[in-house]
Amino acid sequence: MEKQIKRIGILTSGGDAPGMNAVVRAVVRTASAYGISCLGIRRGYSGLINGDIIELGARSVDGIIAKGGTMLYTARCLEMLTDDGLTQAANNAHYMGLDGLVVCGGDGSFRGAQALSRKGVPAIGVPGTIDNDIVCSDYTIGFDSACNTAIQAIDKLRDTMQSHERCSVVEVMGRRAGHLALDVGVACGATAILLPEREIDFEKSIVEKMRANRIRGRKHHIIIVAEGVGNAQDVADRIHTATGIDARVTILGHIQRGGSPTVRDRVMATRMGYHAVKILMEGASNRVVCARNNQITDYDIEEGLAMSKDLNQELYEVSQTVSI
Ligand code: ATP
Repeated sequence: MEKQIKRIGILTSGGDAPGMNAVVRAVVRTASAYGISCLGIRRGYSGLINGDIIELGARSVDGIIAKGGTMLYTARCLEMLTDDGLTQAANNAHYMGLDGLVVCGGDGSFRGAQALSRKGVPAIGVPGTIDNDIVCSDYTIGFDSACNTAIQAIDKLRDTMQSHERCSVVEVMGRRAGHLALDVGVACGATAILLPEREIDFEKSIVEKMRANRIRGRKHHIIIVAEGVGNAQDVADRIHTATGIDARVTILGHIQRGGSPTVRDRVMATRMGYHAVKILMEGASNRVVCARNNQITDYDIEEGLAMSKDLNQELYEVSQTVSI
């Protein structure tokens, strides 16, 4: 039995990710298709607290599926962590007549959605982060685009490293998680991938491997360091000291967050945004939308964030085998 809802809100929060716009589009278009009006809340929860809102109709989101970033802007809003800020946000949501709110962001943003749900604002989280670190979901929107951006940059680095017979030490994003580093490392043929989730024997897995690869005729090396591991310059210095090979550091940084989203991100964003509106129509609150075994589903936010997700161990083992 679908609940009659008349108006919903959509906001993007936390770090931006390619595909957030595609979520906004899917939410607005799905709502519009069912005769529900939609408000865009700008700058994350700050916009809810300060009333920074715009009306969004089906035509307002034309063309944004192909654009990186988020047309609603994003922000981190410390006021949401206070009782006053949260109360103000919930009061404004009621005042605006919101029957539901879709929040696209990471786990911090879902805590905000949970807090609002407890205050009577039905809120649904959609995972939008390049880190793929939402534990209840196999996939987060932006991950594939970020991997592809990293690969394009590393392919260019490879050309210059090969010419000078150097080692390239590349730091990729991911915060405390190594999912991005692992996929990027496999896709660029890295000699070694340093991940926060896995201990590594530096001498055996990097130094000895580089020496052996050099004897086998390898002229250059790529080492991927996840940002959660530590300082990429320290890694380069240790490599240089141990092998004599010139090791240069590149920190890819925020470039990984930009660019037009890939097909995968556009499709996942569209499916997840659609799902979020459908469950709001069914009366859901305090849920996080997830991908599990290529199905779109949802969990209670508390339950979803308490789950665990490890790295793809099979991929990790494959990466070690083929990097000779
Ligand atoms: P990313 O993965 O990119 O860091 P995130 O959503 O985890 O994204 P955070 O900075 O942790 O990013 O959270 C985004 C915003 O969510 C915060 O600035 C704050 O406004 C809100 N938020 C976070 N935690 C809570 C909480 N416990 N209660 C209410 N709101 C919260």
